[in-house]
Amino acid sequence: MSKILVLPGDGIGTEIIDEAIKLISAVESLFGFHCEIEQGLIGGIAVDQAGSPLPEQTVALAKQADAVLLGAVGGPKWDQLDRHLRPERGLLGIRAELGLFANLRPAILFPQLAAASTLKEEVVSGLDILIIRELTGGIYFGEPRGEKVVDGKRVGFNTMIYQEDEIARIVQAGFDAARKRGGRLCSVDKANVLDVSGLWRDVATAVGEKNPDVELSHMYVDNAAMQLVRAPKQFDVMVTGNLFGDILSDCAAMLTGSIGMLPSASLNESGAGMYEPVHGSAPDIAGTGQANPLATFLSTAMMYRHSLERADIADAIEAAVSAVLDQGLRTGDIFSDGCKKVGTLEMSGAVINALQQTD
Ligand code: NAD
Repeated sequence: MSKILVLPGDGIGTEIIDEAIKLISAVESLFGFHCEIEQGLIGGIAVDQAGSPLPEQTVALAKQADAVLLGAVGGPKWDQLDRHLRPERGLLGIRAELGLFANLRPAILFPQLAAASTLKEEVVSGLDILIIRELTGGIYFGEPRGEKVVDGKRVGFNTMIYQEDEIARIVQAGFDAARKRGGRLCSVDKANVLDVSGLWRDVATAVGEKNPDVELSHMYVDNAAMQLVRAPKQFDVMVTGNLFGDILSDCAAMLTGSIGMLPSASLNESGAGMYEPVHGSAPDIAGTGQANPLATFLSTAMMYRHSLERADIADAIEAAVSAVLDQGLRTGDIFSDGCKKVGTLEMSGAVINALQQTD
């Protein structure tokens, strides 16, 4: 039996996680796939109730779970706290504690929502790409780093460093994901300029030889940024380092134009993972029943696909979301003329209903 730890967090986090729990229980009765659900504290509410944004008990529960499903953390109430008590420290802390080195950010644009993008409809309609970013290494953590004075001038410096096993691990995660999707992996680097990227490309090529069933290509990061905006549908899965992935995944996310629709996953070496919507706690609409639960539902789908080995359930949830968009139901963030505006509960109920219609 799989164990899921749910961490609602703050703001709309509690509202969307409540709906995700209903979804998981609907999946249980439809597919006979039983999950044990535990609940824990993270973020501002954890500061209020346990004195820390990441209580030890939450870490212990997370380590025992096959997957963690997180809502969102943060809000104005905690903005003035010391840095170590800020809700966001809870997020960074749990990522480190679980060794989540692979960040998976799909950019999916349901054709029904193509008008929400700033790009032309034909360029983005039906977009379905996955960006995999290395999350625990590279220039964000490399040493030496800092600032010093050289010849009377201030100099700032960081080190972009990857060991071959770190590269092989994330590139392999790329192959594994591509195998579950369209079978194509594009490794993104800057091998024409950076030595660290030269190593990246060598290792990616070597890992590719062990994964002959997936088609591997390489692309320089500047070209990748251009291609993402010019013709994003050419990609299936992209894998890249921490810095390039940070930038490219935000760029890809914006292609879809709707933050309330974007899921994410972060995985560790044992295949356990943390799943969360890309958006934050939306304090401006918290408690009003307007939050879009779909990013969380799509994150739940990723959980079934990547940590619980039930791609069939993931497919069914994604199809149910699409069916509800076909019915013209929209929360405020994705609303357009001619559609029916609904709140969190109605949107969630419609997706669960659509899921129950599939067999
Ligand atoms: P946000 O994503 O919370 O909100 C940005 C805008 O998008 C707001 O207008 C909000 O109403 C809207 N929005 C976001 N999610 C929505 C949804 N599901 N349905 C409908 N509308 C939605 O970003 P922000 O306002 O910059 O940050 C608010 C708080 O969230 C801050 O404390 C920030 O630190 C935190 N935050 C947390 C995470 C996380 O938990 N992973 C991520 C980003 C921001």
